[in-house]
Amino acid sequence: MYFCAFNLNCFFAMKTDSFKLRHIGPSEKDLNDMLSTIKADSIDQLIFETVPDDILLKAPLKLDKAMSEQEYSAHIQLLAAKNKVFKTYIGLGYHEASLPAVIQRNILENPGWYTAYTPYQAEIAQGRLEALLNYQTMVCDLTGMELANASLLDESTAAAEAMTMLFAVRSRTQKKENIHKFFVSEEILPQTLSLLKTRAIPLGIELVIGDHTTFDFSTDFYGAILQYPGVSGQVYDYASFVDKAHQSEIKVAVAADILSLVSLKSPGSFDVDVVVGTTQRFGIPLGYGGPHAAYFATREAYKRNIPGRIIGVTQDTNGNRALRMALQTREQHIKRDKATSNICTAQVLLAVMAGMYAVYHGKDGLQYIANKVNSSTDSLANTIESLGYQQLNTVFFDTIRIKADANKIKEIAEAAEVNFFYPDSETVSISLNEATTTVDLNAIISIFAKAAGKENAEIGSINPSTNIPDNLRRNTEFLTNEVFNTYHSETELMRYIKKLERKDLSLNHSMIPLGSCTMKLNAASEMLPLSNPQWGNIHPLVPITQATGYQEVLKKLEDQLTEITGFAATSLQPNSGAQGEFAGLMVIRAYHESRNDHHRNICLIPSSAHGTNPASAVMAGMKVVVTKATEEGNIDIEDLREKAEKYKDNLSALMVTYPSTHGVYESAIKEITQIIHDNGGQVYMDGANMNAQVGLTHPGAIGADVCHLNLHKTFAIPHGGGGPGVGPICVAKQLVPFLPGNPVITTGGDQAITAISAAPWGSALACLISYGYITMLGTEGLKESTEYAILNANYIKERLDGHYSTLYSGERGRAAHEMIVDCRPFKAHGIEVTDIAKRLMDYGFHAPTVSFPVAGTIMIEPTESESKAELDRFCDAMISIRQEIAEATADNPNNVMKNAPHTMAMLTADTWDFPYTREQAAYPLSYVAENKFWPTVRRVDDAYGDRNLICTCAPIEEYMEEV
Ligand SMILES: *Cc1c(COP(=O)(O)O)cnc(C)c1O
Repeated sequence: MYFCAFNLNCFFAMKTDSFKLRHIGPSEKDLNDMLSTIKADSIDQLIFETVPDDILLKAPLKLDKAMSEQEYSAHIQLLAAKNKVFKTYIGLGYHEASLPAVIQRNILENPGWYTAYTPYQAEIAQGRLEALLNYQTMVCDLTGMELANASLLDESTAAAEAMTMLFAVRSRTQKKENIHKFFVSEEILPQTLSLLKTRAIPLGIELVIGDHTTFDFSTDFYGAILQYPGVSGQVYDYASFVDKAHQSEIKVAVAADILSLVSLKSPGSFDVDVVVGTTQRFGIPLGYGGPHAAYFATREAYKRNIPGRIIGVTQDTNGNRALRMALQTREQHIKRDKATSNICTAQVLLAVMAGMYAVYHGKDGLQYIANKVNSSTDSLANTIESLGYQQLNTVFFDTIRIKADANKIKEIAEAAEVNFFYPDSETVSISLNEATTTVDLNAIISIFAKAAGKENAEIGSINPSTNIPDNLRRNTEFLTNEVFNTYHSETELMRYIKKLERKDLSLNHSMIPLGSCTMKLNAASEMLPLSNPQWGNIHPLVPITQATGYQEVLKKLEDQLTEITGFAATSLQPNSGAQGEFAGLMVIRAYHESRNDHHRNICLIPSSAHGTNPASAVMAGMKVVVTKATEEGNIDIEDLREKAEKYKDNLSALMVTYPSTHGVYESAIKEITQIIHDNGGQVYMDGANMNAQVGLTHPGAIGADVCHLNLHKTFAIPHGGGGPGVGPICVAKQLVPFLPGNPVITTGGDQAITAISAAPWGSALACLISYGYITMLGTEGLKESTEYAILNANYIKERLDGHYSTLYSGERGRAAHEMIVDCRPFKAHGIEVTDIAKRLMDYGFHAPTVSFPVAGTIMIEPTESESKAELDRFCDAMISIRQEIAEATADNPNNVMKNAPHTMAMLTADTWDFPYTREQAAYPLSYVAENKFWPTVRRVDDAYGDRNLICTCAPIEEYMEEV
């Protein structure tokens, strides 16, 4: 180390306020040890041996000088102050909400929750699985449906998923006759209509938009969607519509406001087939559009067609209750080109929070909130009418429409820092919310009084009042389960959240070496701004002039990502990687169509691609042609060339992951992109592996035309237990005009495709994290992050050498930022890759990616954020496990690997009849004893749970199989 006491130059040589020192794990001393382990003289030499020379960037990225954490904190506060937080009653699916502080502090601001991975390893994920089961139960109760998933991306994409799911489950006759019309009520939210259009066109679904009261049931439709309450705020009785629709074999979906369902009859009681919506108003900040969790509920009959993940109840080896993702609703099982949905990352953290909101408030609390909103709206309507205005809705929950001069009202309202929605020049729409007080109501009234030139009327206090008639009032129970009736004090809820948190392994315990998922540091400095209401409380559809801080951050982030990818422009709208894939392909489609190449619909996809790739291609109306891989795991160029030429008249795109999903920088990548261009196609690069590129090379340099980035992988947005995600697309010049738009706020290219996500800039609040990441790392820090990611991977590779064999490396024997370790030979010992994953839990680690992209292997990605000490602990664990594998025999499954993971209950039981010691089971290496993580259940039984599907928190007796 340095001795710097009296030497100022030396003192400043080590800038300890530099963020990269906090973000990057290995110290300078570690670096030298690690380089000698991997036999490289320097990082530069390692990179030279790893990344093909012809794609290495010759000049550094042009980004601003890195800010220290203190500088960034001041900077982001200044920008926050530029956002004007008006009282906003725009509605349209977004409402101000009150996030209970106990949930903010213990979940949103708690790395134990936000750094968790998607709960594939159920035994160390029981906490968030329970929180999601609560969420599903809440959704089922409020919607009156049988089955709900664990969240979708936003209400509009959930509506599109309903449209496509109902299309997929059409009757045999309907399919034979190609019945493809879908009715959309004109009361649907504008962003939902835009998204339905985006998703309908490529599948050949014909949308018919109209008035549901005059719908002609005799024509050939397969489905319909209604809004409840309508966008106008009017509440309709849909019972007879649904009844008639069903008589004509038309399935009905309803997009419903979750809070209104507390007061209104559930859509399930109208016998609808699907209910979707957002849970944003259950305590989630508006965040200028997201992230928020959408819900999707349906009949049990469609359990195999539901998009997204479903959490279900099952049992562990000892027959104890345990939870896991049911019905293989996981991304590895996305049905590739047979898929009807590409949902992978969803909105887990937000679903956890919304579910906790219901746990905290319970039925009584939610009823109080809903009644307050409804009564306030009723009082407001009456008082405004008393000023001589006409209110148009006859039955409403929280939204009224006033006939008035919109321009005049708007001027007075904005001067008073109030936002309404103005559907046309003669109508003002007002949506109230949980946070609306009598002071706010009186402020609204005074705006209308002033416009009418009248004395101010005043509301003294809110009295219970409603105009919801009996036939539309909820008459069924909800939130009866114990979990919703127990934790209503802050102490109780705090402890419940902690109890669940303790069951889950997150980054605040140990590294999560997930290949392709890049579980790097999610720095506190990046996360802190999310708690600031100047960022949280901005409605996505406010005039742009009120969101100056956001506009600056989003524009700057777009520019940063454009520079990092070497492209011409970026759209932040897609709210997951898979949504980015779909967006990118739709942009390519629009580009071909603009050139009258309507027939270009072939999408080449290598066999090793992630399941979302072919799923997205199918959703974009393309035909998937799979290309082969070579023995070394690279794209088979001759096969690719042959197929590109064979389909050259109809070639639309190639989807390629770089470095490849096998963790190799293919040296022929430029040749590959050239072949596609020569045959009239565009190149789509899946950016999940961007952590191996930033600052060293970029999709522009390899010759791609568009890529998505997973900001929740490479750019430090936490995984949140399986979401939120942000999946922007960056595009070359020729594709810029087609970047996605929004029907209310102008954004996107000048020939923009219709919406990909509900909000104009997708999950804007989460974008702050990536902005902080790039701004604090700067050019040098970003490049070094990539270099250390590669160093860390090669260090693991070297340390495991001789114990495990690595599949596929580059031409000079180096791994990229991740590597595939072969576990197939262990079958001789009766050991499967799953056994290794479960045994790692006993050592305090989360398993790497299992069986993707090659079955029977694990894919390890350490990221730059892990120190040498942590890498060593992980390698020690893997080497120790290798020894345990050697000792296992195929004829006797009673061994430490097959019995893993070991719970505290096993260790402390009065009897111990396993052929190894308790110490060996639970404390196999000395570091484990010092910081033991206990899995809370034994190995979960997936098949049992799928045979006895339970996806709500029903009491245990209701589901246990008769023995
Ligand atoms: C994560 C990932 C995706 C999908 O991203 P989501 O945000 O989960 O939708 C696509 N491709 C690859 C290779 C990935 O690793």
